[in-house]
Amino acid sequence: MSSDHDVVIVGASIAGCTAATLLARRGARVALVERRPDPQAFKRVCGHFIQSSAVPMLERSGLLEPIERAGAVRTRSRIWTRWGWIEPPDRSTLPASLNLRRERLDPLLRAIASETPGVTTLLGATVDGLLFDGARVAGVETRDGGGRRRRLHARLVVGADGRQSPVAKLAGLDSRVRPHGRFVYGAYFEGTPPAAAPNGSLWFLDPQWAAAFPTDGGLTLYSCMLTHDRLPEFRRDPARALRAFFADLPDPPPVADSRIVGSVIGKLQMPNVRRGPTGPGIALVGDAALAADPVFGVGCGWAFQAAEWLADATAPALAGAEPLEVGLRRYRRRFRHALLAHDDLISGYATGRRMNAAERQIFSTAARDPRLAARFEAFGTRNVDPRRFVAAAMPRIAASQARRTLGARRSARPLEVTA
Ligand SMILES: Cc1cc2nc3c(=O)[nH]c(=O)nc-3n(C[C@H](O)[C@H](O)[C@H](O)COP(=O)(O)OP(=O)(O)OC[C@H]3O[C@@H](n4cnc5c(N)ncnc54)[C@H](O)[C@@H]3O)c2cc1C
Repeated sequence: MSSDHDVVIVGASIAGCTAATLLARRGARVALVERRPDPQAFKRVCGHFIQSSAVPMLERSGLLEPIERAGAVRTRSRIWTRWGWIEPPDRSTLPASLNLRRERLDPLLRAIASETPGVTTLLGATVDGLLFDGARVAGVETRDGGGRRRRLHARLVVGADGRQSPVAKLAGLDSRVRPHGRFVYGAYFEGTPPAAAPNGSLWFLDPQWAAAFPTDGGLTLYSCMLTHDRLPEFRRDPARALRAFFADLPDPPPVADSRIVGSVIGKLQMPNVRRGPTGPGIALVGDAALAADPVFGVGCGWAFQAAEWLADATAPALAGAEPLEVGLRRYRRRFRHALLAHDDLISGYATGRRMNAAERQIFSTAARDPRLAARFEAFGTRNVDPRRFVAAAMPRIAASQARRTLGARRSARPLEVTA
């Protein structure tokens, strides 16, 4: 069967626009299909934090420069724990994270994709059906605002259509859903910046969580994720509850001196979803493949990274050098190897539970030991695999415990009084 396009990508947000840009640069003819008609549309229920792990990919792909030109702020993070602040290392070798509001980021990525030769962008077209060639996905069916239907054939269909992923459901791809035990409220504020600005501050109150993240335009996002017993006060008056919560934090940020810009946004249900991420003729990227708990700010960065892995893995097949299945297998392996161990930890904590004993040991030692804090930064910014982090952290935790035990014994020994 001849195809109109090599690839149809469903969803023109972070994952879809990035995959479209990178695949077209490798010579593929790409249709980028988005249900929202407005090229300026952006994701409203989202922070603006792009994890450090994605920065090398942004640099390689040439996306970093326009993102910085649009006003992105580069930050590191410090973390409040009941054992003290875990400060970012003075001289970190890791790239700083990026902060650019989605209202600037999404239209920028869409413009870059649409201007890339080989990309045809179809806005205002909702995918509500898939075309099959036997068991293989072979294209999509779309419906526009006027009810007109269209069929797009392609060798590869990419679901970049977010946490709910209609494409994954239509393709019958398996999903694993883990419950989420916190709700979120947040708003942008202008006024006196928080103490560590431009760096971000996180409060791990365990099990409650709060963050103050500076971004472009001199704004700071104040956001908290709390267990559901705290919901009634936020339902009654979200702005008041948000301000009161931040004012009560240890080392509170200057929320009383700041003014809310825009509205307070909340979300009550954010289940952690993991899918595929591949099937015959189909691949998922971004939240469609893995929608993780926003507490750790990984979704945007992983959407960028997965788009690059997909383009690298499937470009040879789309150029006719090998069967598509080989490229899809390569993508699946890379995706799983890079993200699933992180996701297991993230989705475990997302239930709203308190830290377990191992997590308490890591956080408490990192608050006292700058060298462990540096390793913790590499892990928390998703630059290092959890297994490597644990292997490196255990000796430092053991040494720190031994020092504390020894110190406690010394101070417990009675003073010898000599005449
Ligand atoms: C409260 C909250 C705060 C967050 N904060 C952060 C943060 O600070 N940092 C971070 O890294 N992550 C954050 N995330 C996660 C982040 O929002 C996602 O990981 C990220 O948006 C994923 O991008 P994506 O391109 O995969 O999907 P999305 O951004 O969800 O985009 C999916 C696109 O698909 C389109 N679409 C859907 N269905 C169809 C269809 N049938 N036909 C055509 N188009 C369709 C949609 O219109 C949309 O444009 C947060 C999430 C939440 C809920």
